[in-house]
Amino acid sequence: MSKYVVKCPRCEEVQDPYALHCENDDALLRTEYSKKQIETSDMPGIWRYIDWLPVNGIIEEGTGRPVTYKSEGFAKELGLNDLNITFNGYWPEKGAFIRTCSFKDLESFPTMQRLIERDEERIMVVASAGNTARAFAHVASITGQKLLLIVPKNSMHRLWTTDDDTSSICTVTVEGDYYQAIAMAEKIAAKEGFVSEGGARNVARRDGMATVMLDAVLTTGSLPQHYFQAVGSGTGGISAWEASMRLLEDGRFGNNMPRLHLAQNLPCAPLYSLWTGIELTGRCPEEMHDDVLYNRKPPYSASGGVKDALDDTNGMIYGITNKEAEDAQKLFEETEGIDILPAPGVACAALIKAVETGEINADDSIVLNITGGGQKRLEEDFTTKQLDVGLTVSPEDPDAEKKILEKISEFFNEGGC
Ligand SMILES: *Cc1c(COP(=O)(O)O)cnc(C)c1O
Repeated sequence: MSKYVVKCPRCEEVQDPYALHCENDDALLRTEYSKKQIETSDMPGIWRYIDWLPVNGIIEEGTGRPVTYKSEGFAKELGLNDLNITFNGYWPEKGAFIRTCSFKDLESFPTMQRLIERDEERIMVVASAGNTARAFAHVASITGQKLLLIVPKNSMHRLWTTDDDTSSICTVTVEGDYYQAIAMAEKIAAKEGFVSEGGARNVARRDGMATVMLDAVLTTGSLPQHYFQAVGSGTGGISAWEASMRLLEDGRFGNNMPRLHLAQNLPCAPLYSLWTGIELTGRCPEEMHDDVLYNRKPPYSASGGVKDALDDTNGMIYGITNKEAEDAQKLFEETEGIDILPAPGVACAALIKAVETGEINADDSIVLNITGGGQKRLEEDFTTKQLDVGLTVSPEDPDAEKKILEKISEFFNEGGC
């Protein structure tokens, strides 16, 4: 029997393990593992949860995993008795070693491992406003996989690395927003010799992010009543739901489906708009506390997407202002003693709101996903450097694609971006 199959949750047909779409409908494909009760392995980082990752081997080096601990400081401030924090980032004192300081590493490692298992020779194309690019750059530095990053110019400050050898990575910046970067990446990825990483439809990304819930439940011993996370695409929310379904089937962790509490940053909050019907206006992503949370086309209504996840978990979405996010981030940092990225500040604010409105009770069991943190802590231990930019293009330039292809060919044939 094989370790897993990839199935459509809607028509229930088994699909090619690397497929991104069902042959019959628009559903997000889902992994079904033969092993129904998860056992942790003693392999490094995320591979601790290899039973429920769609891979056969591992990338030994450079991986970290989520780490769950019971909150004291922040919990006390909020009057909560069972608040568990799942920290994704760098915090060696807690055993947290994610070197890019966000949970995007949980997606990049399994995705890369699957490329290796497929003997993928093509150049991987990743468009990102920051954290995803950093995570894929990190794993590509380790494996030597050829990677083309396409990044909006004003997100370049997020493209730092602690790796020495970044010679397999070519970075192109676009003088425009995230959507112009994505559009450019799609054009390039469609050409021969390139492959895209698949986004929310990639089961390796989702099952990688699902390790947050696995870590929380295997640490506390039971499924929580509530799960809080800041979302852009909502993929992490879908992943938490999918992990919960597997853990319910496992049978050892209770029979409670955790409620998803997803948090978006106003005014750039399309999932919140779709869910509540409230229309929003604002300049996006300029007006955001953290623009990594902006996604104009989240997988909301497709089967197995965000809407299904919310319906099935009796979940909800919060709209959080910049001020609420800033205050919550500050409070978290002061009470827990670690710096966090701005995005998880949005989740902290949602938790505060849920307490204030009586949505959750003092004794409820809660998991708060801190999706990124410890960058300041990391800078005490490592020197970071910026990734080199090989080329900058304007989205209005009719020759932009041609210039990128020329650059790539020069780069990989002559070595040097
Ligand atoms: C990407 C990201 C998120 C949102 O993730 P989803 O894909 O919407 O689940 C939240 N926090 C950080 C730090 C991120 O990088």
